[in-house]
Amino acid sequence: KKFVYDFNEGTAEMKSLLGGKGANLGEMTKIGLPVPGGFTVTTEACNEYYVRGAKLWDELKEEIFNHLAELEGKTGKKLGDLDNPLLVSVRSGSVFSMPGMMDTILNLGLNDKSVVGMANATDNKRFAYDSYRRFIQMFGDVVLEIPKYKFDTILHRRKNDKGIEHDTELTWEDLRDISELYKEVVRKEKNIEFPQDTREQLLMATEAVFKSWNNPRAIIYRRLNDIPNHLGTAVNIQSMVFGNMGDTCGTGVAFTRNPSTGENLLYGEFLLNAQGEDVVAGIRTPKPIAELDRLMPEAYQQFVDVCNLLEKHYRDMQDIEFTIENKNLYVLQTRNGKRTAAAAINIAVEMVEEGLITKEEAIMRVEPNQLDQLLHPTFDSEQLAKSTLLTKGLPASSGAASGKAYFTPEDVVHANSLGEKAILLRTDTSPEDLEGMVACQGILTARGGMTSHAAVVARGMGKCCIVGAGEIRIDEESKTFTINGRVYNEGHAISLDGNTGDVYDGEIPTKSPELIGNFEVLMAWADEIRKLKIRTNADTPKDTKQAIIFGAEGIGLCRTEHMFFEESRIAVVRQMILSRNVEERKDALEQLLPMQRQDFIEIFREMGSRPVTVRLLDPPLHEFLPHEEEDIVKLAKKMNISVSQLKNVVAELKEVNPMLGHRGCRLAVTYPEIYEMQVRAILEAAIILKEEENLTVIPEIMVPLVGQLTELKYIKNLMIKTANEVIQEKGVKIDYLIGTMIEVPRAAITADEIAEEAEFFSFGTNDLTQMTFGFSRDDAGRFIGEYVEKNILEKDPFQRLDRAGVGKLIKIAADLGKQTRPNIKLGICGEHGGDPSSIEFCHQLGLDYVSCSPFRVPIARLAAAQAAL
Ligand code: ADP
Ligand code: MG
Ligand code: MG
Repeated sequence: KKFVYDFNEGTAEMKSLLGGKGANLGEMTKIGLPVPGGFTVTTEACNEYYVRGAKLWDELKEEIFNHLAELEGKTGKKLGDLDNPLLVSVRSGSVFSMPGMMDTILNLGLNDKSVVGMANATDNKRFAYDSYRRFIQMFGDVVLEIPKYKFDTILHRRKNDKGIEHDTELTWEDLRDISELYKEVVRKEKNIEFPQDTREQLLMATEAVFKSWNNPRAIIYRRLNDIPNHLGTAVNIQSMVFGNMGDTCGTGVAFTRNPSTGENLLYGEFLLNAQGEDVVAGIRTPKPIAELDRLMPEAYQQFVDVCNLLEKHYRDMQDIEFTIENKNLYVLQTRNGKRTAAAAINIAVEMVEEGLITKEEAIMRVEPNQLDQLLHPTFDSEQLAKSTLLTKGLPASSGAASGKAYFTPEDVVHANSLGEKAILLRTDTSPEDLEGMVACQGILTARGGMTSHAAVVARGMGKCCIVGAGEIRIDEESKTFTINGRVYNEGHAISLDGNTGDVYDGEIPTKSPELIGNFEVLMAWADEIRKLKIRTNADTPKDTKQAIIFGAEGIGLCRTEHMFFEESRIAVVRQMILSRNVEERKDALEQLLPMQRQDFIEIFREMGSRPVTVRLLDPPLHEFLPHEEEDIVKLAKKMNISVSQLKNVVAELKEVNPMLGHRGCRLAVTYPEIYEMQVRAILEAAIILKEEENLTVIPEIMVPLVGQLTELKYIKNLMIKTANEVIQEKGVKIDYLIGTMIEVPRAAITADEIAEEAEFFSFGTNDLTQMTFGFSRDDAGRFIGEYVEKNILEKDPFQRLDRAGVGKLIKIAADLGKQTRPNIKLGICGEHGGDPSSIEFCHQLGLDYVSCSPFRVPIARLAAAQAAL
């Protein structure tokens, strides 16, 4: 098997074998750009290396040295030569670019003798020793694993002693001394002499690059970016060109367009008399690329031509690394540049206008999840840089929020009513906090994970939320919070960056999101292409309005229980739950009816002729009850019963496994009055809109948690009875649909039966995932992380739909449902409805729509278009 490829054998298509860097070095060589010669050791070699227990093997070594010999032939130099030594770089390069995550070594091939040869051959001692000290440090850091600072201190000390600021001011004698001191560091730290055998150096460096695939930051980066662990990195061995030979030399990095805004202008930086890493490491402040025009107009013009050529060739914005040696330009790397969402959109749309790419390609160029950045208010990055970081948590819901810290929902609501911006700071959250969550700018919790209640709800609301900020101690009693020993009072202003999980001191100004300009254009293209309809999960007129602005085509899930948590209503709801007999319950429900009806009127009105699916009451009743002593006392007073009586009822309603307990349609089996009231509210609202506003609404009424046909039948009968009553009373005919959630595995596998009564299915993938895996959603956060770390699960199944298991159930149910009722409407309304990979799966299954939170609607529109391409 061939494990090593010369650059002139590679092409851009060979990324998975040669890594991105190697494949593009090959491609650029092929199209005749000035690329220093070299060869690539494949990703397969890296994997083989690990299979062999992290050992290089003889055949591979031989193959590497054969290619080295070829390179020596071409350059007329030899590795380790005393008169004219060849120096090489040993560069990592994986299939997907992981900028700065793995390691690279420059100037390999120098030793105590060849450095003299180098100095003679170039007649430049300073340059030779500058290269040597760089090499020892990089090799020491990457291969010998000696902390970088041990070398840096020596360099700094010398600069201090001489009272100079820049490396470039060091003389050759300084650099020679520094090299000696560096070797001393190696001796002290590792008990070895700095390796003088240049071939040994090459093998050690190659091995170190293989190993850097598994350094901690590379592992974390892969996890964050969904890059599989099994890919491995390639190693590029390339003859060196030198930007550090003097003032007609330099090195730099440029983007062919602005990666932050997308503006079509060359955007880059360079340094004179410097080598590779200096630019990004901030050793000196680099100069804007335009200045190169003044200093070396020919090299600059040559570089501009290369940029234009590369962008046209790859038909995408390029991120290009270059070096100038004695006014000669060399290209060392090109790749599709990483960019912000705003830049991605602007570049994609403008490239279509320029005739460079098609609309379809433009659609594929933007990462759907990235759009999230544009859908929440954001901080100005300049302002952020000036602010003080207090602590960090998990970035549960993106966005930016500033406000004064309050510790209870009531205090947040109160502050809000005074026109104050508030941040809700909690140890953890419960549904009772919802009011506070609505009224606050952002939520910060000390406990909890990304799937915690606070996180799910916050994402649903598009509210900035950071959870699990473990350094924070909250003391509700004294109304203070403590971070690392420092105490802050209630009302202290803080800012949350939901994109990073960073918590800052003080208020930071934000900018609000808009769906305008090129963003709008791209979305329109996506709409032309996609087959799936995009609905939204919305419970309030405000959410509904937002969803329509973002392009929602209907509501796929309106959770009626969320309407119950509102301050003015929760008391009535509690009264309803605690009723001692049917009469009392009906009485409470009668008070709820007009409130709920009004909600539906407003939501239907907002949605106009678009379809709305309303889900009847779902959660365990116990969730609505007070648990804090203080609240219980208040409620008992209100209800005119004793505290102990109330406590008894609360205790009676307590369940061991509430999520598998008395909830969903099971509630209606025991308390039919609840669903009767809700059906009435829905239909009366539709009738009022028809009568008064001439708006025809066809409500889709959805029964949650159905597991068997008989269950649905029983409830449907009761719903139809109520519906008929309402229609008769008002004398207005109204069409409506009755359907069901498919979220209990039994319902999925008997979907042919269920479809006899259900006119539509909506896959509730949160519960379906919970019940299919038997993972409690509220507890799984504690162990799922380790499942992912240990490669037992590729990804949290609550975030990305598990196609093999849960997906199979959905497919079975969809097929069975269609058997019974060919035109049955099929949709999905779990958190997965906004996840691009899950959306792709829904497209493949031929579902009619996905439904997601308002703030993910544009993401879903784009993902659905990508799925259709
Ligand atoms: P990264 O993946 O971290 O960008 P690279 O392998 O691209 O690492 O190397 C970093 C820098 O080192 C390059 O940008 C380039 O400036 C310099 N470099 C790499 N190889 C060579 C070479 N053959 N000649 C001169 N400079 C090089
Ligand atoms: Mg690079
Ligand atoms: Mg459910």
